[in-house]
Amino acid sequence: MVVVMQERATEAQIDAVIARLIELGVDVHRSSGVTRTVLGVVGAQKIERALVELLDGVHEVLRISEPYKLASRTFKPDNTVVTIDDVRIGGDEVIVMAGPCSAETDEQVDASAAAVRRAGARILRGGAFKPRSSPYSFQGLGEPGLKMLRSAANAHGLKLISEVMDVSQIPLLDKYCDIFQVGARNMQNFTLLRELGHARKPVMVKRGIAATIEEWLLSAEYILAGGNPDVILCERGIRTFETATRNTFDISAIPVVKKLSHLPIVADPSHGAGRRDMVAQLARAAVAAGADGLIIEVHNDPDHALSDGAQSMFPEQFEGLMGELRIIAPAIGRSLCQQPAPRFGGSR
Ligand code: PEP
Ligand code: MN
Repeated sequence: MVVVMQERATEAQIDAVIARLIELGVDVHRSSGVTRTVLGVVGAQKIERALVELLDGVHEVLRISEPYKLASRTFKPDNTVVTIDDVRIGGDEVIVMAGPCSAETDEQVDASAAAVRRAGARILRGGAFKPRSSPYSFQGLGEPGLKMLRSAANAHGLKLISEVMDVSQIPLLDKYCDIFQVGARNMQNFTLLRELGHARKPVMVKRGIAATIEEWLLSAEYILAGGNPDVILCERGIRTFETATRNTFDISAIPVVKKLSHLPIVADPSHGAGRRDMVAQLARAAVAAGADGLIIEVHNDPDHALSDGAQSMFPEQFEGLMGELRIIAPAIGRSLCQQPAPRFGGSR
């Protein structure tokens, strides 16, 4: 249920409505838009609509028909913008996150970070805990990997996103990263999602390999219901009968999510394609379709990468793609970070 307050509702009236709803046994999430305050009411308890409609300052009470409530546009008509200092995900600028699949060595992480920054990425990606299909594949370096990623992010003026696979890893990731990444395989790890609802940093939830959009939005709902409003969705391809690509990149998920939800959506064409010669095409299409950001695997030496080398771009390829995206973004009223000016005597 959503309680839409009158445009001129006072703080005292809003507080009184919140207090009454809590008394009735439900949780209340407040969203203050440009003109009105909206209260999202969630909980198992059924509340009689008329009871709330009669309260002072209430404009109307709506039922949300979708199973997810706080993630829905009915609850929050305005787009959510996730802000990390000067990086705004969900605003006019298309935010590019890029970097290696996994942290491997100091040199590899630093060279990859320098390259993606030079091309205009704002956020460094890189995993230290890797969910691999085989237990014999490289599993990530753990904390030493996070240290490499953090120091490269700092050195090159980038924010950092890294995957958290388990509740027990949250404090460690919290120490190093700016955004928690929930991988496709963990999209329905409800214990993890609940715990991230109490985190003070944004969480990016990748779509599960066989998840419907509704299930994906319900996963976001777990985090929002825990009190963390900074959730980003990421389309990374789903499993279908098609075998020509690693996954089937669901471009239509972008406009569907934009219609159903206020949350920003990022596209991952690397895992979508599984091959570097198709990443640029999907990335361009995702931006044209309205994605708020991209997450792209870039490695300084992809042919020797310890994970996902075939889908990792060479730095020059990535730079070429960024140039193309700078032409596409303005055509749909968006922008893309300019390449940073080379610093005299510096390596950036
Ligand atoms: C990754 O980002 O490297 C990754 C493992 O992604 P996904 O969870 O989408 O497979
Ligand atoms: Mn990967």
